[in-house]
Amino acid sequence: MIEAAMVGRDGVVGAAASLDGKISLSRAIVQLAGDAMLCEVSTLKGAAMQSENLLSLLIRHEQTVYAQAQQSTACMATHHGEARLCRWLLRARDLARSDTLLFTQEFLAEMLGLRRTSVSVVAHTLQQAGMIKYRRGKIEILNVEGLEESACECYGTVNSHYRALLGPPPK
Ligand SMILES: [Zn+2]
Repeated sequence: MIEAAMVGRDGVVGAAASLDGKISLSRAIVQLAGDAMLCEVSTLKGAAMQSENLLSLLIRHEQTVYAQAQQSTACMATHHGEARLCRWLLRARDLARSDTLLFTQEFLAEMLGLRRTSVSVVAHTLQQAGMIKYRRGKIEILNVEGLEESACECYGTVNSHYRALLGPPPK
């Protein structure tokens, strides 16, 4: 299991079902605690069929998820672990709207397709550089600019796709 895309306060999980998607092509896992809204597929589909704006929004949202999955594939093939972990932490921070993230190294390794020892080495390096503080499954982001400089370009690419398709992220 490797992560292909992350959806948070800016998005929807399973929106394709309301666009007549017949099967789920991926598995969704809740990574962080928080509030979410639940909606019946038939209700969302009905609303989308009555509103061209909502239909367009859902399609464009699904495009951002697809774009993330494409970017993740390229990222895993070409970018090294430290840059990928920085990108991942920045994206998780954006979606959680918090500098404190509760993730174990095992979980990070699984999501990024890295060995746990690799995640441990990278986390140590980032901590030594003062970018994060990591302790027992709790990551505190201390230096966002530093993480942005160390992240691969995929973070910016995914954000630019998002802005182009959906506009600025919600405040
Ligand atoms: Zn990348």
